Amino acid sequence: MFIVEIDIEKCEACGDCVENCPEQMIAMVEEDGKKYAMFTGDPDVCSGCLSCEASCEKDAVTVTEY
Ligand code: SF4
Ligand code: SF4
Repeated sequence: MFIVEIDIEKCEACGDCVENCPEQMIAMVEEDGKKYAMFTGDPDVCSGCLSCEASCEKDAVTVTEY
């Protein structure tokens, strides 16, 4: 299984990781006026393709295999 962590301090809500995930595992959320990307999928379904990590120019996404 894979855990996808998104550093909300670095995330600028560009949406690239959301668009580039072939499994629709990442969603944009908004809390207290700040928008950021969040992993909302099933860690067992995430293929670990690293597309989200590679697409983030802010280095905010880290994919780790468990
Ligand atoms: S690609 Fe990076 S900066 Fe853009 S929404 Fe995803 S985590 Fe945030
Ligand atoms: S590793 Fe691949 S399948 Fe998993 S969340 Fe990232 S883009 Fe989606």
